[in-house]
Amino acid sequence: MNSCPLCGRASLFFFYQDKRRSYLRCNHCHIVVVPPEYLLCAEAEKSVYDQHENDPQDKKYRRFLSRTFEPLIALLPDDAKGLDFGCGPGPTISVMAEEVGLLVSNYDLYYHNTPEVLEHYYDFVTITEVIEHVADAKALLTRLDSLLSSGGVLAVMTSRMVDAGAFGQWYYKNDPTHIRFYSIETFEWVAHHFDWHLEIVDRDVVFFHKK
Ligand SMILES: [Zn+2]
Ligand SMILES: [Zn+2]
Repeated sequence: MNSCPLCGRASLFFFYQDKRRSYLRCNHCHIVVVPPEYLLCAEAEKSVYDQHENDPQDKKYRRFLSRTFEPLIALLPDDAKGLDFGCGPGPTISVMAEEVGLLVSNYDLYYHNTPEVLEHYYDFVTITEVIEHVADAKALLTRLDSLLSSGGVLAVMTSRMVDAGAFGQWYYKNDPTHIRFYSIETFEWVAHHFDWHLEIVDRDVVFFHKK
């Protein structure tokens, strides 16, 4: 693996090795990536997701998502339309949105594969606990950009890498479906690249504002 899946530069260097996988870090955009030989096939990946019991009635899950959803709706006009990209087997943001009178469409490669929803523009797109699973980071973010109206908001929820020195103790890297790890530095690169404004909302939530 030579070129970075986010910035495209030939700037990936060894970063860390644990019992199961090795990790490379880009010295340009600072993303940490798992090399292709460790990526699961689609079937194995889906069987891990099938075990995630995300349920819109689960109070704990809703509380978790509300750290993205509450600050997001505070920014939105009443008639805003959104998309939950990678909504998973139990779409929940769309249910929470409906309760406050907002319309949110669902899309998921495995569970809600309705490509027609990707042919519209949205005032906001949520992508919660998804970005760390997607190998082609640049293609994903380019697609998300293409879904946003000007002035739109992209709400990203993923645990951020805070302390590179403590990577070995970071539980988040141990999920075999987690293959791309973002930090503030990486999100700053993303904002610059797409000409978005970065807003840091919480320890695992950022908003990108499209101009
Ligand atoms: Zn890079
Ligand atoms: Zn995840």
